[in-house]
Order: sequence, then structure tokens, then C-alpha cells
Amino acid sequence: METVTAVPVQRQVERKKLVRRLGPDSSQKMRRIVQWLFVALNGWLGVQFLFWVRYCERGGEGFNVPRPAGAEGWLPIAGLMNTKYLLLTGHVPAIHPAAMVLFIAFMLMSLLLKKAFCSWLCPVGTLSEQLWTVGRKVLGRNLPLPKWLDIPLRGLKYLLLGFFVFVIGTMSAEAIHDFMSTPYGLVADVKMLNFFRDIGQTAAIVIGLLVLLSMLVQNFWCRYLCPYGALLGLASLFSPAKIRRDAEACIDCGKCARACPSHLSVDQLVQIRSVECTACMVCVAVCQAQDALQFSLVPRKAPAPSERWRRRTIRPAAFVAVLACILFGLVLVAKATGHWQTNLPREMYIDLVSHANDATHPGM
Ligand code: SF4
Ligand code: SF4
Repeated sequence: METVTAVPVQRQVERKKLVRRLGPDSSQKMRRIVQWLFVALNGWLGVQFLFWVRYCERGGEGFNVPRPAGAEGWLPIAGLMNTKYLLLTGHVPAIHPAAMVLFIAFMLMSLLLKKAFCSWLCPVGTLSEQLWTVGRKVLGRNLPLPKWLDIPLRGLKYLLLGFFVFVIGTMSAEAIHDFMSTPYGLVADVKMLNFFRDIGQTAAIVIGLLVLLSMLVQNFWCRYLCPYGALLGLASLFSPAKIRRDAEACIDCGKCARACPSHLSVDQLVQIRSVECTACMVCVAVCQAQDALQFSLVPRKAPAPSERWRRRTIRPAAFVAVLACILFGLVLVAKATGHWQTNLPREMYIDLVSHANDATHPGM
């Protein structure tokens, strides 16, 4: 009997020794700062874009601000089309090149650092996180959807993605160029703005419903409906950086799994390959066991005498630096090479923006 009880006691002592006495993890503080900076950047771009649209609608009268090309980040479909155009022709498209640059930047982030865009940069992701946090405070918890509902619902975003990939996949470079050159393609961003400015009753009800569901269910939009997130998730499968757990250092407390907003079994796995992992690092932040859980590059064998797997941890500051280098590096290159702005004559924009609501989809 003695030997049966002595083992767990010994193990508990060993585990207690492993629990770190370090200060709080900085990743979440840093993530919040990055998230809100990106919300502010998007807000600034949005206001500037609105002023520019109003200037055009007034026939070029009043307060003139330049058209902010960065607003094209909200045109991921144009970004995907233009990336295909670039791959087919080797030429950077003249219409909405910024949409392509930002699309490539966000894809690159996913290829290197999982779906970091979703939990560190995307303003919709930030809003979604705020909504389920409020919902949790009000109701005491978020609603966990049962597996039989959760799994098929997760498929919806892939259906939407499949639709866009199919449509764009069948387009030739010439067809993409022709589409972008139509009034609809030229002012796709203005049409998106006008959708929210003149929002109809049905659209308002749908958005209200999404807000409500986002308060009840963690990341409802991101988890079930966002085709952009679905694409970034697929790209993230190639990421060399992943959440990795050292089973020897782990004290099996299960905190990581309970904290994961993507409901992943972090405490059961050695590494997280899932397309749902957004590299938010919440799991790492709550883990109290020294070196048990890390966001790290591909593990490699440590040199002798120790034969333990050594991981190459990515610290939050380095993580943010890589995100910033990808984003601002590509934007700077695009600006320096003249592939950032859509260069249409002012008079043409004034005419197009004034009649943006009349521009219909070429396929309709
Ligand atoms: S596994 Fe960790 S990093 Fe990935 S989504 Fe869950 S909490 Fe975030
Ligand atoms: S990896 Fe997860 S289960 Fe293991 S100690 Fe850390 S939080 Fe607890």
C-alpha cells in the first residue's frame, strides 16, 4: 500500500517544484494593445475614406482628403482576385493593388504564425472578443454548442470559401481585369461603405442577430461564418510555429484547454495543428508550469548530453515584430514601387462615386 500512495505524493512534490514563480505573462497585454491600435488605424482609415467619398459626392467641392488605399483591406475578394491576376500574368493589377498587398500580408502571417491575423489584428475579431466577454459577464458564461451542431456549423465558412474560390478559380486574368474595370469593380469599396450608410431593415436585423449570437457563443462569426478566416486557417496548417506542450513539464491542470477561445484540447495534445488556433496565446498566458506550454518553432533535438526536445520559443515581442515587419514592410515596398494607390483621374472618381449606388454587379 505504501508504494501505491508514495508515487503520486512524490509526483505532486515534483510538479509543485515546476510551477513557475515568474511574473504575469505579457502576451495578452501586448495583444490588447495591438488589437486596439489596429482598430484605431481602421477607424482612422474609415473616417478618411468617408470624407473622401463625401468630397466626391459633392462634385469635388469642400474638404478634400486623399483616398486612403489602406481601406482596401476590407476587400478580401478583390485581394484574392488580384493575387490570382499577379500569379497568372506576373503584373501587379492597377485597380485595388492595396487589396492584394494586404491580402498577401495576411496570408504570409498565417503561413508563418498561424491565424495571428484573426486574434491580433482583425477588428471584427476584436469586436467579437469584446462581445463574448460582455456576454460572459452578463450571463456568467458563454453557451457551448454541442458537437453535433458545432461541427456542421464550422463547415459553413468552408462552403462560403469554396464558393468564392470556385468563382475566382474559373476566371481568367482577362476576366479579372475586365471585372475590376467595371464601375462596380472600381467602386467596390464605396459600395461597401454605402451598404452600412444606407443599411436596410433586413441587413440591420441580420447584423443585430449576429451581435446577439456573438455575445452568447464565443467567436460566433469567426468560428462558423468567416470565409477569410477559413482560408487563413488552411494556410496556417503550413506554419512552422505552433503551440507546443511539453508533457513532462505539464502538471495536467487543464487550465489551457478551459481558457482556449477555440475550444481546443490543449492539455491533451503535444502540439496544436488545428485550423482553429489563432495564436492568441491565451493558453500560454494561463499556464503556470515552467516551460510546459509555448508558442514555438519546429522542435529540434538538443545536443548531448541532454536528449530532451528543445523548443525555439517565440516571445510576444518577437511575434509582434514579425507581424509588423510583414505588414508595414509589404506596404512600404508597394508604396515605393508605385503599387499601392489605384490611380484613376479625380474627375472619373467624382463621377463613379456619385453614381456608386447605380453600379450593379457585372454578373447580374
Ligand atoms: S490553442 Fe492557445 S493559441 Fe491556439 S486558439 Fe487556443 S488559446 Fe489561442
Ligand atoms: S500545459 Fe495546460 S494542462 Fe499543462 S500545466 Fe499548462 S495549463 Fe496546465
